[in-house]
Amino acid sequence: MTTFESFDLLPKIKKTIKSIGYNTPTPIQAKSIPPLLSGRDLLGIAQTGTGKTAAFSLPLISKLAKNKVHLKSKNVRSLILTPTRELASQVELNIKNYSSGLRISTCVVFGGVGHRNQIQTLKKGVDILIATPGRLLDLMGDGYVSYDQLEFFILDEADRMLDMGFINDVKKIMRKLPEDRKTVLFSATIPKSIVGLANSLLDNPVKVEISPESLTVEKIDQSLNILLRKNKLKRLKKILTQEKMGSTLIFTKTKRGANKVVEFLEKSNIASAAIHGNKSQNARERALNSFRKKKIKILVATDIASRGIDVDHVSHVINFDQPMEAEAYVHRIGRTARAGREGVAISFCDETEVKLLKSVEKFIKKTIPVDTSHTFHVDLNELGTASKKTKKVSQNYKRTLKRRRSSKPKTRR
Ligand code: AMP
Repeated sequence: MTTFESFDLLPKIKKTIKSIGYNTPTPIQAKSIPPLLSGRDLLGIAQTGTGKTAAFSLPLISKLAKNKVHLKSKNVRSLILTPTRELASQVELNIKNYSSGLRISTCVVFGGVGHRNQIQTLKKGVDILIATPGRLLDLMGDGYVSYDQLEFFILDEADRMLDMGFINDVKKIMRKLPEDRKTVLFSATIPKSIVGLANSLLDNPVKVEISPESLTVEKIDQSLNILLRKNKLKRLKKILTQEKMGSTLIFTKTKRGANKVVEFLEKSNIASAAIHGNKSQNARERALNSFRKKKIKILVATDIASRGIDVDHVSHVINFDQPMEAEAYVHRIGRTARAGREGVAISFCDETEVKLLKSVEKFIKKTIPVDTSHTFHVDLNELGTASKKTKKVSQNYKRTLKRRRSSKPKTRR
């Protein structure tokens, strides 16, 4: 078995991670830390929850601390790009913990908050800059960032960058970085466009992979509730009040959907909070902190906002809506069963979501067991009929509307 002791990390770092409670490296750490310490580029295929942050940041901190340099104003020695502000904050928090007592300077920059503090920190020069692409480009455009002393570049969750439409921003940033640097790219999936990006970024990289299927299938107790859309909230309430629930993360398709769930739960005297893109950075952090500190047990999130939610004690994930992309199912349920723990994932599927469910099952190569024990259960075949009925109803409704409009008397101007 690989141990942290066997790695050529600074002894101080080994001591720190032991005190944090990391006893053995996770598989992605065991595979990534040695080649990164020996100076290789790396392509890591792993999702959040596998311990990938420590996999790239422990060797980075060790290398920076072993070889301190005088940093000129506005210079950064390493750059970590992440798709969301939550992930950026989380990565910074982890790095601060791992590098405690080593005098490694960090700076995190993202949008939605003022520029001033970020500029002040950058002016001093920083060892590790963690950034989301948009704000970083703004700061670069205004001349606050210099890459003359850059040695390391890490692109985290590259596939998410692509999904969120940031890839051109990433490319713009990449063009400003010096050729002579070490590069790491982490991605949960490797679509063709990421292969292209990896080829242009990485120099003879080591490839390490943690398969998402083995992660989801083995450790998480997954079940499916097939029900009509109109019964989803009632079923949710039943689950939250009857089952033995710990900290629970609920996923909805839309921001509006997340708000609706929170409002409904509020009316039912169940405390919860929502995080999504329409909430201010402060509101998101507040909700996340209350959830982390177990002041509230239920957090309702959309897929994008959920990126970077690093909470260890999530016992249940509820997919209130099926994800629009099959891969997101793995990201979502991966929020439970973190760092070797076990977890429960309950998914709802209504009459409009059968296709999405099928593509999830195809992706995870598994049929999710159906929970038939509740009163709202509908057979999947009946659900098909319901779906046709809904379609028919909406078509009829549209026709009626059209008829009404055309029969309206025309008013003269
Ligand atoms: P990540 O995939 O980087 O988001 O990490 C997932 C969670 O695993 C975080 O809460 C880390 O603190 C935790 N973690 C990372 N490495 C280890 C380890 N070797 N042992 C125990 N927990 C870990």
